[in-house]
Amino acid sequence: MPAVLRVALPVPLPTLFDYLPPAAGEACVGSRVLVPFGRSKLVGVVVAIEAETTVGNGRLKQVLRLLDDDALLDPELMQTLAWAADYWLGAPGEAYANALPLALREAKPLPALGDEYWSLSVAGRSAHDAGSRRGGSKTLLALLADGALSAQELNERLPGWRDAARRLASAELLERSERPPLDRPLPASFAPLLSNEQQQAVAAVGASLGQYQPFLLDGVTGSGKTEVYLALIEQVLAQGKQALLLVPEIGLAPQTVRRLRERLGVIVEVLHSNLSEGDRARAWLRARNGNARVILGTRSAVFTPLPQAGLIIVDEEHDSAYKQQEGFRYHARDLALVRARALGVPVLLGSGTPSLESLANAEAGRYRTLHLRARPGAVRPPQVQIIDMRAQRLEHGLSPALLAAVADTVARGEQALVFRNRRGYAPVLLCHSCGWHAECPRCDRPLTLHAGRRQLICHHCDYRQRMPAVCPTCGAGELKPQGQGTERLEEALIAQFPQVPVLRVDRETTRRRDAFEQLLSTLQDDQPAILVGTQMLAKGHDLPNLTLVAIVGVDEGLHSVDFRAGERLAQLVVQVAGRAGRARKPGRVLLQTHQPEHPLLRSLLAQGYAAAARELLAERRLIQLPPYSHQVLLRADAPQREQVDAFLAAAHAALPINAPLQIAGPMPAPMPLRAGRHRGQLLLEAASRSTLHGMLRSWQLALIALPSARRVRWSLDVDPIDL
Ligand code: ADP
Ligand code: ZN
Ligand code: ZN
Repeated sequence: MPAVLRVALPVPLPTLFDYLPPAAGEACVGSRVLVPFGRSKLVGVVVAIEAETTVGNGRLKQVLRLLDDDALLDPELMQTLAWAADYWLGAPGEAYANALPLALREAKPLPALGDEYWSLSVAGRSAHDAGSRRGGSKTLLALLADGALSAQELNERLPGWRDAARRLASAELLERSERPPLDRPLPASFAPLLSNEQQQAVAAVGASLGQYQPFLLDGVTGSGKTEVYLALIEQVLAQGKQALLLVPEIGLAPQTVRRLRERLGVIVEVLHSNLSEGDRARAWLRARNGNARVILGTRSAVFTPLPQAGLIIVDEEHDSAYKQQEGFRYHARDLALVRARALGVPVLLGSGTPSLESLANAEAGRYRTLHLRARPGAVRPPQVQIIDMRAQRLEHGLSPALLAAVADTVARGEQALVFRNRRGYAPVLLCHSCGWHAECPRCDRPLTLHAGRRQLICHHCDYRQRMPAVCPTCGAGELKPQGQGTERLEEALIAQFPQVPVLRVDRETTRRRDAFEQLLSTLQDDQPAILVGTQMLAKGHDLPNLTLVAIVGVDEGLHSVDFRAGERLAQLVVQVAGRAGRARKPGRVLLQTHQPEHPLLRSLLAQGYAAAARELLAERRLIQLPPYSHQVLLRADAPQREQVDAFLAAAHAALPINAPLQIAGPMPAPMPLRAGRHRGQLLLEAASRSTLHGMLRSWQLALIALPSARRVRWSLDVDPIDL
């Protein structure tokens, strides 16, 4: 019987493609095949083998080559990917493209799975020019002077080492080799004695090993969540199973890898987008063949094969980095739950500021909540105070009370952090004579002044222009920066505290991968310092001498049109505040605002995140917003507004009549113009998820067929997190 292979291909069409089996070899579900597609060749994954095609056998092309004799993707992963593609309305092939590292999406043999080692060559050992090398190259040569190191060790000790290795290897100073993977245990360090709450959490999850059960581990940063993860991973390893730990950002990865490896005494496989493609493929394959016992990774690591799964952990589960915002718009936390169910293992969601979605799930009894209320190392939780900015004389946006608190802190030899979630010098550049302000011609939004570079930059589309010397409309010479970004605060603080080091931490000062770590490591000492920075400072390194956190410019978050702004603001305030008083010194947090009476700020400060979140949830329930309703957002953009309007109107008309949906729009997007393209949207909302999903696929197919769809860029976002 001539079978037909149904293949998922990396093209953005929500369909599978039929091919005749290859001339040689027996394809199975989950193996990769090279197929002809139009004039090119593509690597796809066999999703099903059918007796006959719906297209008509005569016209089918044949698979060119079978790439895997055995399935590369196991049935659980295949099933989960099919579910994910269906739920987030992705093309099947896009889901596979996200799951497979790039090196495995090419028609090449699988990479060897030995460990990669680097050492000095003979020339490298006697190199006379080694002393003349700088930066990463110099550090790498010094590291390898004591003997070969594995790529994993290098990842931990010198982030960004590969560029240096490539340079030195082409100068024939370094050599690369492969050795069989290490299977003897590494020395492990001792765990601290767990607190009662930690023990209870470990016991509860431990009792669920071997079955599906979601847990929400609610504990602020520093409350000992990672110790709970470690104790549980130890149990999982003792049972011969694998553990997957997801973190929102790679910034968090190096220190966590080190901590996991030192404690557990096993190699920790790391999977994130900053790895070389070869490393990514190797880590993925080692997880697949069971060699990798502990896998740590960011969003896309949720697709790691886990043939011996024991536990899945999602750290900082509230973090929006888990949602992919382009292409295949999946949510890694939600997918982690789906996988845990399919694999029959517990899933642990950790956060000090859980998402309202997870809190609602806990409230409904779908998750079990575990609390860590005490902070092991700290004396007591930081005190939070509001500074009322009304009727205050401000010094570059900083109130006298705030400056006095910073002065006290550095006088005691301690460190202060001034947090402002806006980089650049000033968000607006204004002419006082005529009212002109610098605006992005492609977005209709104010350009941010970056004074150090004498540039105006659009933070939405990266448009840049030189800072004008005089007003371009009236010629007046006095252009005034309005408002404060981190760069201006840095300048103001240097002027106020000339004798104290002021460090700015934002995307501009930490563009290099290792610069952030280096900046923060200078703060480990017991020296006074002032830090100015954005969101990047909300997490990461422990700063034991940091005792004051001053948060400025939160008021913008209180006026946003996005219904999630309140939740985000509360999370950010709590995360940033958590940086104060981590060690033995008590911390203090100041929140500078024009709206000291705002209910969200009041409940947050008086009763903490849990109470504020309860109120936000009650509000969402009242007005039937997620998580008490379900949304799908159709976005469209095009060079001309009429093209967007025509498409959205046609999309609206293509909705099934009488479907129990609330429809908002078509309407302009919150940013109606961005990078020169007009943007609009249509929001669908339903009380039940199944109502919504019942009509989505057919609507999507109708949209693809619309003539007006060809003149716009459009996408569907299921459970969007920004409107
Ligand atoms: P989180 O992951 O919630 O931020 P961690 O697990 O990293 O918290 O713990 C914060 C700090 O407290 C770490 O330095 C950790 O070693 C320490 N710690 C955690 N639990 C204990 C404990 N039971 N006894 C002593 N120190 C602990
Ligand atoms: Zn002017
Ligand atoms: Zn712009």
